[in-house]
Amino acid sequence: MANPKEEPKTKVLIVEDEVAIVTLLRYNLEKEGFAVISTGDGEEAVTMVKEHRPDIIVLDWMLPGMTGVEVCKHIRWTQEVKNTPIIMLSARGEEGDRIRGLDSGADDYMVKPFSPPELISRIKAVFRRIRPSLSEKVLEFSGIVLDLTAHSATRDGSNVHLSPTEFSLLRHLMEHPGRVFAREQLLDSVWGHDIYVELRTVDVHIRRLRKALNYDGKQPDLIRTVRSAGYALEENPDGANYSNPDTAEAE
Ligand code: CA
Repeated sequence: MANPKEEPKTKVLIVEDEVAIVTLLRYNLEKEGFAVISTGDGEEAVTMVKEHRPDIIVLDWMLPGMTGVEVCKHIRWTQEVKNTPIIMLSARGEEGDRIRGLDSGADDYMVKPFSPPELISRIKAVFRRIRPSLSEKVLEFSGIVLDLTAHSATRDGSNVHLSPTEFSLLRHLMEHPGRVFAREQLLDSVWGHDIYVELRTVDVHIRRLRKALNYDGKQPDLIRTVRSAGYALEENPDGANYSNPDTAEAE
């Protein structure tokens, strides 16, 4: 179920010939809400950049044929895509290599091995630098403030601790306050439609989200359970205020 109101995903092109790294990065990036395309070939990468216009490129230095540095220079010389941010990956850790990588036009440089979360935070940092408006992106609803860049949440000024899934779930509800979402729709939007997750999983995360948002047990439950329909975020949910998070589920 596509949601036409949803923002287009940030598209990442991974240029890497080591399949295991591509798989790992793809999994982690998609989990974070990025759309991922990939190739292991430098020349194909140049074509894909022109055709698909990724928002950012993660580019390995060592590629068969054209090297990452050559791909990077090529992109920087190509008028219509020359401003695409590039994070260069390399097994080389020497200072000289780092400088060469950055000199070729990369925005950032990471030495292998690195952890996917580290790469994701570098990607976000690059966007913060090049698109400062994104860093100011904050959603607010009835005392809940969601900082989409810092990935942090507060309610009435106190920190709310959310797992990445609960964060995405709350984000989705906050982007469409008042709208009722079936569990299938939440699965599609938050988990993605290409993985199999049981419907009950949504209930489990809604329950955790409620608990996290009502950290002192005194706050109104803003998530309305709509029997046999799903869930909605509402300022004044019906009588189900202060509902027991363990039993209130969309049966
Ligand atoms: Ca490589």
